[in-house]
Formats: sequence, C-alpha cells, structure tokens
Amino acid sequence: MSTTATTKPVPITVAHGDGIGPEIMDATLRIITAAGAQLAIEPIEIGEAVYKRGLQSGIEPASWESLRRAQVFLKAPITTPQGGGFKSLNVTIRKTLGMYANVRPCSSLHPFVSTKHPNMDIVIVRENEEDVYGGIEHRQTNQVAQCLKLISRPGSKRIIRYAFEYARVNNRKKVTCFTKDNIMKITDGLFHRTFTEIAAEYPQIESEHWIVDIGAAKMADTPEAFDVIVMPNLYGDVLSDVAAQITGSVGLAGSANIGDHCSMFEAIHGSAPRRAGQNLANPSGLLHGALLMLVHIGQSDAAERAHNAWLRTIEDGVHTYDIYKDGVSKKKVGTAEFADAVIARLGEKPQVLKPAAYARGVSMDLSMRKAGPVPQKQRVGVDIFLDVPAGNPDALGAALQRLHVAGTRLTTISNRGTKVWPDGNPDTYWSDHWCARFEGDGGTFSAAHTIALLEAVSRAGFDAIKTEGLYTFNGERGFSLAQGE
Ligand code: NAD
Repeated sequence: MSTTATTKPVPITVAHGDGIGPEIMDATLRIITAAGAQLAIEPIEIGEAVYKRGLQSGIEPASWESLRRAQVFLKAPITTPQGGGFKSLNVTIRKTLGMYANVRPCSSLHPFVSTKHPNMDIVIVRENEEDVYGGIEHRQTNQVAQCLKLISRPGSKRIIRYAFEYARVNNRKKVTCFTKDNIMKITDGLFHRTFTEIAAEYPQIESEHWIVDIGAAKMADTPEAFDVIVMPNLYGDVLSDVAAQITGSVGLAGSANIGDHCSMFEAIHGSAPRRAGQNLANPSGLLHGALLMLVHIGQSDAAERAHNAWLRTIEDGVHTYDIYKDGVSKKKVGTAEFADAVIARLGEKPQVLKPAAYARGVSMDLSMRKAGPVPQKQRVGVDIFLDVPAGNPDALGAALQRLHVAGTRLTTISNRGTKVWPDGNPDTYWSDHWCARFEGDGGTFSAAHTIALLEAVSRAGFDAIKTEGLYTFNGERGFSLAQGE
C-alpha cells in the first residue's frame, strides 16, 4: 500500500471528550486505523468530569505529561460548564503548549452538500497566541474599560512564514493577508509590513493584502477569489467560523493548532450535548482534524485513503442528519454507520469532487530567520492617563500646564483617542478617561521626566491611572496620534 504500512506506530494523546465526543472519536479512529494509520494511542480524560472534580482548568496534571511526551493531540469536543469561573480548556492548552498557528481548511462539497459557493476551497491560517487574546484587560475609571492588543514581530513572522510554507508545501497559489492597518497602523501595521517582507521570499506564490472588513465581505460573497488567508487572532477567530459555515456546514470542518513542540487536532464544532449518545452526530469534522494530524506526523498515504473514501461516501449520498437533504442524499445514517460506509470505500476515489492529494517528501521550513539589526530606540515623551470624572478639556489643559516640570511640555489631551485640547471640537463626547501627552521641551526626554511628571500630577490631586512611554525607533514614531491631532 504505502510507506504508512511500514511506519512505526506514532504515539498520540487522545481525548474522547464530552457530549457527542466519544461517538465521533470512535468513528474517526476506526476510519483512520482502517486506512492504515499507525498510531500508539495514549488516552487522557479532559473536560466536564475533570471540571466537576474541582479542577478549574479541566485537565489533570498527568495529562500534561502525556501531551508533552506524545506532542500530538487528537481531541474531541468538550463541554465547558457554564459560570463558576471555569477556564476555557482550549485556550489553556493552546497557550500553555505554544500552539501559535490555527489552520482551518474549508472547501465546499457541491453538489452533495448545499452551499451558495460551489467552488470554495480556502485555508484560514490564524495567529493563535497574540492580539487581544492575552486577555489583558483593565477597568481604571468608572466609565471606561480597556483590552490590550499585543502584536509582536516574531509572532507575526512565525505565523506568516507558516502560511507561506503551508502554501508552498500544499501547492497553493496565493496567500492573502487581512488586517485593519488603516486604523491600527502600529499593531496591524506591523503584521502587514511583516507580511510584505516575508512574501518577498516567496516570489512563486502570489500575495495580496485586504483591509479585513472589505476582505471579509469579499470572502463571504466570493470565497473562490481566495486561497490561503493569514490573519491576526481576532479576525481569524471570527472569519474561520464564517468560512466553515459558508461551505455548507460547520459540522464538516476540522482544524489544526500547530506549535513548535506540540500540536492539537480537532473538529471546529462543540460537544452538541443534545445530540449525545444517540448515534446521530456527524464525525466528519473530527475526521478532518485527524487527517490534518496524519499529514503532520508524516502519514499522508493513510490521510489520502481516508479522505478519498470519505469524499466518495459523501458523493454516494450516505449522509448524517445534519447534511441530509431529500433529493440529494440517498441514505440517512448514524455516526457508526457513516464510519462503516467510509471504511467500505477505502481504496476508492471520488468521481465528481476533486480527489485529495497530500504532499509527500516536502517538509516545511519554519526556521526563524536571523532577526534584523536592533533599531535605535529613543524615549521622546509620556502619555499619562487620568481619571477625571467631571473633566473639561480647557480646565484640564490649564491645570496640567501649571505643573511646570522642567524639560517637558504638555502637547495634547485626548479622550478615548480623540484630541480635545488644544482646539478641541465642542461636539466631541468626553468620558472620564483622559490622556495627557507630555513631550520633551527642546531637549531629550528621560525616565526621570516621567517620574517627575507623575509626582507633579498626583501632587495636583489627579488620579494617574496609567502611563505609556512614547518612543521612536530609528526615528520612526512608535505611537499613534490622536484623531484630529
Ligand atoms: P455545538 O457546536 O456543540 O453545537 C451547535 C449546533 O451544531 C447544534 O445544533 C448541534 O447539534 C450541531 N452540531 C455540532 N456538531 C455536530 C455534529 N458533529 N454533527 C451534527 N450536528 C452537530 O455548539 P454549542 O451548542 O454552542 O456548544 C455546546 C458545548 O460545546 C458547550 O459546552 C461549549 O462550551 C462546547 N464547545 C466546545 C468546543 C471544543 O471543545 N473545541 C468548541 C465549541 C463549543
């Protein structure tokens, strides 16, 4: 058959999960094993039962050891109990094990599964660790709360290189980047600039950038215009669900969470508790996660056999309830019978749909290339954020100008990013969250200036809720201007 037959069993950690999890995991493992996958399975328990034993994280310490040892994790969906401060296990696992890339192929199965987009075949590559998902949030005034959006250069380089390497190895023609860098020029701007730099190393692959709003609209309307799309975390979170949904069903998609050491493979849907234990659920999403896993561990032959048999099953109209449609489908089956139907077709190929063809013998080169020279960083000022409940820009400007800290000057005051002093617009709404920007008065601006300003501000009776240093990098401004500045 293949190299697969002679491959030594690869250790993988498997969690059967909650709700429909055990049924779809059994079906998935039966299919891939019959297709020739060589796996040494280490089962672990995660999810509801573990949460109920009082572990807020939903995972036992011993399970971490299995994950670190095997480095490959096939995970069925779990139920996160409502309320009670339980942590999302998925986020915990991804972040703890450094799974920086989320990969979600979404292709339509027209005419066998109804979709408005018969020619859709895209892969969303989502950055998985950064952006607002650090969950670093603060409420510092009565009226205003904030969430910190962090985008790093190494984090961007790594995910963008992953997207291009994925395209190269899987013979994809184009990589598109979505950001909102017309507004977030520094954070999303960094992601976009990094994309442009890395794209230059792949002249054989077309590259393009879209602003995320219009890009998302285009993707929902004409997905066939895209191939691989790489995005920061939040846009990727939202748009990967949109992409899966418009193929016809979220129940069909799988995803991979890739890290340098450990990777996790799963269905994108949840544990569907109402369908549990009834032999109803469609195992296709988890099967797709498992196919990504087989390619990841070098068992592409088994992945291809299982994938082609699955395509043939779908073509033959053997469908679970979620995709069953009178006139198109031929036979409504349960989870176990669907798996049997796929296994019975191993060795066959689809006749209408494009057969799966996984790359062999080409591996990704994800080495982080040498970092460029460290730029010259210079402090040029400070933003001091103030909680002033009944503030008024002119009074605040006058009071802050009276602080007289030598070597500094107040340059602007803004409120939620809009300049209100000097020369503010009377129609601008003011919250209690103000930002006073101080810069050097002719000379250099030091940390001592920041400390002196903070002391002066608090002596004057203001509540300074936070500071942000203002820096330039090789002379380039590393901070945004306020709207209207
Ligand atoms: P869900 O994805 O479980 O269900 C949404 C809808 O899709 C339901 O109507 C369900 O019946 C249907 N559905 C889902 N998977 C299906 C399948 N394989 N075959 C047929 N129909 C399927 O989402 P939900 O109801 O919002 O969440 C249920 C539980 O799952 C919650 O506890 C949630 O926290 C958890 N969840 C877990 C994961 C994960 O472990 N990765 C992801 C999402 C949600």
